[in-house]
Amino acid sequence: MARKYKIALLPGDGIGREVISEARRVLDEVITWIDGLEMEIHEFDCGGEYFLRTNREWSEEAEDFTKTEADAVLFGGIGAIGPDGKTVRRPDGNLAGYSVVIGLRHELDLYANVRPVKLFEGVPTPLVSKGPKDIDMVVVRENTEGLYYPARGRVKESDRDFAYDLRIITTRGSERIARYAFDLAMTRNGAPVDGRRRVTCVDKSNLLAGCQLFRETFTRVGEEYKETSKDYAYVDAWTLLAIRKPEYYDVVVAPNEFGDIISDLGAALQGGLGVAPSGNIGVKHAVFEPVHGSAPDIAGTGKANPIAAILSMAMMFEWLGKNHDDAVSIRTAEKIRNSVELVLHEGRIRTPDLCLGEWSGVVPSTTQQVTDEVIRKMKG
Ligand code: ATP
Repeated sequence: MARKYKIALLPGDGIGREVISEARRVLDEVITWIDGLEMEIHEFDCGGEYFLRTNREWSEEAEDFTKTEADAVLFGGIGAIGPDGKTVRRPDGNLAGYSVVIGLRHELDLYANVRPVKLFEGVPTPLVSKGPKDIDMVVVRENTEGLYYPARGRVKESDRDFAYDLRIITTRGSERIARYAFDLAMTRNGAPVDGRRRVTCVDKSNLLAGCQLFRETFTRVGEEYKETSKDYAYVDAWTLLAIRKPEYYDVVVAPNEFGDIISDLGAALQGGLGVAPSGNIGVKHAVFEPVHGSAPDIAGTGKANPIAAILSMAMMFEWLGKNHDDAVSIRTAEKIRNSVELVLHEGRIRTPDLCLGEWSGVVPSTTQQVTDEVIRKMKG
């Protein structure tokens, strides 16, 4: 049944602001176009630039709404450069905006970081012998534990100086991410190579105790999914395999830090950060964001590709639709994704990051021109 969703938009810094304002244009269009889609959009400043102005990472109102009222969150990216030419940081050394990105993951228990790695027609991949029929997997990264759990420190004494990062992996955390990965595989068409549903556990269990627990739990949970094949790879070997035979992979699940690294490899395979969307998903809450950050080097130049942000918004609609059994929202996700696919496939309108290979002769378009074209396709 259709319902009214409350959405928090958090553009953040640099190109985060630019691509979220483009996603918003698409959002405003779909709201007027799609019958029965009702949204209440609340947009808030946050991040390093906001911190420079106010000494806060976001307002109390923004924090309160995002944590307690929003049905879903669409986020851009944080990371600002201060007047001294350095990255803006909080007094504790963390990036200004840390509470928004990392804080939300912990406070809202967004345990699954989901990164689809799909190569669309019309997008150049660095793998010369592979094409869209070969690259269609999803990396599911555990998002709340592992090496990025904030249990770290530095010891400086007269005769020694060292730092430590504790890597905590729990049975509960491993179990729920494994289950998420197997459930996700049930909704997909299997791996490109053979159409088999396959979930690959990527770890370093030949060495690390946490990874042994992660793998054992994966195997136990996987027993419940008889029609899905369980597959295993050590993370170092996986990076090689993913380049040699990406078509073998369907859903790939990994502990936090390994998932972070391998999903950037995935972003490269699918054509770069400009087209890589993601979702941070929990039981009741979810934050969707492009994989890229604030990219200060291209901020303000009109070169930022808005597609990663627009596809992240499509993921948001899909999640809302599935969570609320809402066909209108699912249809909206499909509409947005199809329009993006058409623009990429046609190939005339693209930002400079995609003007490579057989598209190197295309005159690059601006961020806004790409969005204009996505909207035109949606209407057409
Ligand atoms: P962090 O991920 O730590 O926030 P960052 O903000 O420095 O890093 P990213 O935003 O991840 O950098 O981007 C790395 C590089 O990729 C950028 O310098 C930029 O050139 C390119 N890039 C990232 N996003 C896009 C995009 N949407 N369109 C075009 N190029 C992009």
